[in-house]
Amino acid sequence: MNKKYIISIDHGTTGSRVFCFDEKGQVISSSYREFTQHFPRPGWVEHDPEEIWAGVKFLIQDAINKGDLSPHNAIAIGITNQRETVVIWDKQTGKPIYNAIVWQCRRTADICNDLKNQGYENLVKNKTGLVIDAYFSGTKIKWILDHVEGARELAKNGRLSVGTMDSWLLYKLTGEHKTDYTNASRTMIYNIKDKKWDEELLNILNIPKNILPEVQPSRSNFGKTKNIQVLPDGIPVFALIGDQQAALFGQLCVHPGEAKNTYGTGCFLLFHTGDEFILSNSGLLTTLACNKDGNVAYCLEGAVFIAGAVIQWLRDYMKFFANAKESEDLIHDLKDDDEVVFVPAFVGLGAPHWDMKARGAIFGLTRDTTPARITRAALKSIAFQTYDLVQAMEKDTGKKLPFLRVDGGATSNHYLMQFQADILNRRVERPKNIDTTAAGSAYLAGIHAGVWKDAEELTEILRDRTVFEPKMSEDIRQKELKYWHKAIERVKNWVE
Ligand code: ADP
Repeated sequence: MNKKYIISIDHGTTGSRVFCFDEKGQVISSSYREFTQHFPRPGWVEHDPEEIWAGVKFLIQDAINKGDLSPHNAIAIGITNQRETVVIWDKQTGKPIYNAIVWQCRRTADICNDLKNQGYENLVKNKTGLVIDAYFSGTKIKWILDHVEGARELAKNGRLSVGTMDSWLLYKLTGEHKTDYTNASRTMIYNIKDKKWDEELLNILNIPKNILPEVQPSRSNFGKTKNIQVLPDGIPVFALIGDQQAALFGQLCVHPGEAKNTYGTGCFLLFHTGDEFILSNSGLLTTLACNKDGNVAYCLEGAVFIAGAVIQWLRDYMKFFANAKESEDLIHDLKDDDEVVFVPAFVGLGAPHWDMKARGAIFGLTRDTTPARITRAALKSIAFQTYDLVQAMEKDTGKKLPFLRVDGGATSNHYLMQFQADILNRRVERPKNIDTTAAGSAYLAGIHAGVWKDAEELTEILRDRTVFEPKMSEDIRQKELKYWHKAIERVKNWVE
C-alpha cells in the first residue's frame, strides 16, 4: 500500500493497457481492455475518443487496485500510443468534433495521390523523413477540417485542438495541449530536421497552425492530473512517446547502430542513428526517437508486412496446426535441410525490394515436402525479411548492427529466434519482460522523476535476457541467403 510506482498507459490499436511499474523497473500490476473498432465504409477505420478515455480511466483504477497500491503514491505517468491516429476536439466543450481517424484508415488515399501528382514526394521526404501515404496524420487532419461542418470556422475562431492519441489522453488527464517529438514525427507536417511544424507543408494541406499542439522532448514536464477522479490532482505526466519508439527505448537501444525488431502480425524494425538525420536509399522511413537521456535522436524505421501473419495463414487456411505455438512442435523432428523457400509476398514486397506487384510463392517443392517443411520455410521467411531490412539499414548508415533486440508474440518461437541469429550472424537478445513498449514510457517518466539517471543505469535492470548466439556455418548461411534471394527475384512483378 505504501509502495511508490510509475503509471504507464499503453494505448494500442485494438485495446489499451495500464501498467504500474515499481522503482526497480518491474511490473507490479496491469489491466487491459479492448475498445470498439468502427468501420463506417470499406477501408475506413475510426475510434471513439470518449470511449478510449473512459477505458483508460477505468484501467488506471483497476491496475492500482490489482497492485494493492494507493493512488497517492503514483510518482509520475508515462503515455505510449498507437501512432498517426488523430483526433480534433473543441477546446470550449472538451468534445471531439469527429471520431479519431486511425492509422489504418485509407480514406485520404486520393489526397495523397494528388500530392504525389503535384510532385511533392521529395519535399515531404526531405522535411519529414516520410513517404506520402494515407497512413500518416497530416491528410487525416485535412480531411476532418474539410468534411466536418463548421470545423474550419471553429478553427478560425481558435476553438480547435488537434492531436495524436497521446495528446488526447494528456488533454483529458491534465487539460494541456502538447505532444512529443516522436509522435509529431509521424504526422507528415513536422519538420524533423528543424524540429518544428513546417509552414510550407501546413500551407499545402491547408492546416492552420493554431490548432497544433506544442512539441516537447519525450521525457519532459507535460502537465499534472486535474479533476480525473481516479488519481489525486498534481500527479505529473513526464513522458509521451509513440509505441515503436517506446519499444526501442524499453529495449534500451539508445546508441547509433542498435536496433529492435518487434515480431507481431508484421515486423517493426527501428535502427538508432543517434544525432544523424539519414535519408534512406531503400525506401525506409527516417523518424525521431530517444537517446540514453530521453532527449531527441534519429532512427530509421522499416516494416515487414507479413511476419506472424504467415503462421496465421498456415493455421487458418492450410490447417497445418491449430495454434501458432504448434508450428514449432511440428518442425521439431526435421533433421535434414532442404531447398524449400516460402516468400510470403501476400501484399507485395516492402523495403528494401518495394514491389507491390509481387505475390507469395513456395519454391523447391518435391514429393517429400510435408506441411512441416513448408512451415519451417515460412518461419525462415520471417528471419530472411528481417535480414534484408537490417542489410538495407547497415548500407544506409554505414553502421554495423552489434546485436538485435527482439520482442512481440512470435519471439516465443525458439527455432525462429535461433535461425534469426544464424542468418544475421549476430546475437539476438530477448528480454524477460516482454512488455517493452509500456516499459519504454515508464522508464522515460521515471528518468524525468529522478528514479533512474538514464538508460545506461536501466541496462543493469534489464540484464535478464535470453540470448541466441549464431551457430550456422558460413557455407550454409550463404546457401540459405542465395536461395532466398533467388526466390525473391522470381516473385517480383507477378501481377500485371
Ligand atoms: P500483434 O500485436 O501484431 O497482434 P503479437 O505480438 O500478439 O502480434 O503476435 C502475434 C503474432 O505472432 C501472430 O501473427 C502469430 O501468428 C505469431 N506467433 C505467436 N506465437 C508464435 C509462435 N510460437 N511461433 C510463430 N509465430 C507465432
